[in-house]
Amino acid sequence: MGTLGGNVMLDTRCQWYNQTHFWRQSLGYCLKKDGTLCHVVQNGKRCVAAASNDTVAALTTLSAQLCFETLGSERTLPIEELWHSDGAANKKSDATEILTRIRIPKTAKGHRGAYAKLRDRGSIDFPLLGIAVRLDLDADGLVEDADQVVIALVARPNRVKGVADALRGLRPGTPEFDGALEQVATNARRQCRPMENIPGDADWRREMVKVYTRRAFQEAAQAN
Ligand code: SF4
Repeated sequence: MGTLGGNVMLDTRCQWYNQTHFWRQSLGYCLKKDGTLCHVVQNGKRCVAAASNDTVAALTTLSAQLCFETLGSERTLPIEELWHSDGAANKKSDATEILTRIRIPKTAKGHRGAYAKLRDRGSIDFPLLGIAVRLDLDADGLVEDADQVVIALVARPNRVKGVADALRGLRPGTPEFDGALEQVATNARRQCRPMENIPGDADWRREMVKVYTRRAFQEAAQAN
């Protein structure tokens, strides 16, 4: 309870599943448990409940390694290889092993990171959308590398494509960087498709992808 490993291993969430047994029974259950249909995707063959682990987004931008132990053996895998895209069982791990360590490689000297979280209230909510970003600046303050991972869309975290290519060589705070960031935000909105699996209108959450992408990168750029 309340651990980093616990958050990484958090089950997926869905507003059609995280309900009372009576409520689920009245709908005929669903693919995640006891049923044969999905209430989010009509005629869907696979559960699309949302991975809602805040820390996973940031750990993925940091290329974290997960160490699992079982009686007499240990294995390590990159965090991005943990996932299945089936929300009923979205991790390549079972009850015979336990996550015991998370290793984060040494970050670049000019590393900057930020996490922007959309939620109903500012206390204990699960994310309606979570966006982690990484900016690595070189000795001259120019972007050397960048990454963006989004959580709370579908059953696995989504890495946004094309981020590093769009920002590389630019100096945060300049009009050129701001222009490229606008393009990155637009691309993120295009690549991320929230569903009606968790609360919050899916179209609104999609528009917020653009807003929160911009905010997260700006916060990272201003971090020391
Ligand atoms: S997405 Fe929701 S409704 Fe659909 S199978 Fe998964 S838990 Fe059930």
